[in-house]
Amino acid sequence: MPLKVTSKDYVVFLKLVAEKIAESKEYITALDSAIGDGDHWVNINKGFQALVNKAEILEEQSISEMFKTIGMTLMAAVGGSSGLLYGSAYLAASRITKNIEYLDIDSIYMVLESMSDEIMSRGKAEVGQKTMVDCIFPSVKAFRNAIDQQLSIPDLTNMVIQTAINGANNTLEMPAMKGRAYYQQDKGIGHLDPGAVTMSYQIVILMELINKITETQ
Ligand code: ADP
Ligand code: MG
Repeated sequence: MPLKVTSKDYVVFLKLVAEKIAESKEYITALDSAIGDGDHWVNINKGFQALVNKAEILEEQSISEMFKTIGMTLMAAVGGSSGLLYGSAYLAASRITKNIEYLDIDSIYMVLESMSDEIMSRGKAEVGQKTMVDCIFPSVKAFRNAIDQQLSIPDLTNMVIQTAINGANNTLEMPAMKGRAYYQQDKGIGHLDPGAVTMSYQIVILMELINKITETQ
């Protein structure tokens, strides 16, 4: 049976991410204090808490409406670059999911690709500049390869998870070329990019949930 991810399932994902972010306060704050202004955890935590508060509304919406509400909520609730980048990413996802009743593997791929493209164009960022792009872009590529190779869902999700984690880890030695880290004397070399790390949490949790849903369907 093909994968079927509903708005209700996506809200489960949002709640799991909110929990993971909430418990990573010290770690993410330390990362952004080393290379930025220290507020990335506050920003992203505020955003996901705002989404959890809207869980009941989101669950009842179509996929496209839900992504639109998520995007608007993040834009309104989250300060900093990440609010605008995630907000625009979800609005892009809303635009490409019109008329879709539920998400399957191909549409989840399309959603992630549209988000990655939108973040890169909004942020004018490319791979290798020590941002969240270094996590999402290679993950989308790995997803594409996995679909092309017709991998099973466990293999596909595993491949994307490994790529997301490696992508975040690869920011360690990169000199920053975007965002606040660019203005640090050491360009953040030797520190992970906080936005890449929180992006990896989201991609890992989404892939784990897809796997779990596949097992029960
Ligand atoms: P701010 O940098 O405005 O304080 P946050 O601390 O919430 O915002 O987010 C910082 C993260 O945003 C960085 O770690 C990086 O991953 C990401 N980021 C910053 N600028 C850009 C950009 N131009 N393009 C893509 N991602 C960016
Ligand atoms: Mg910051």
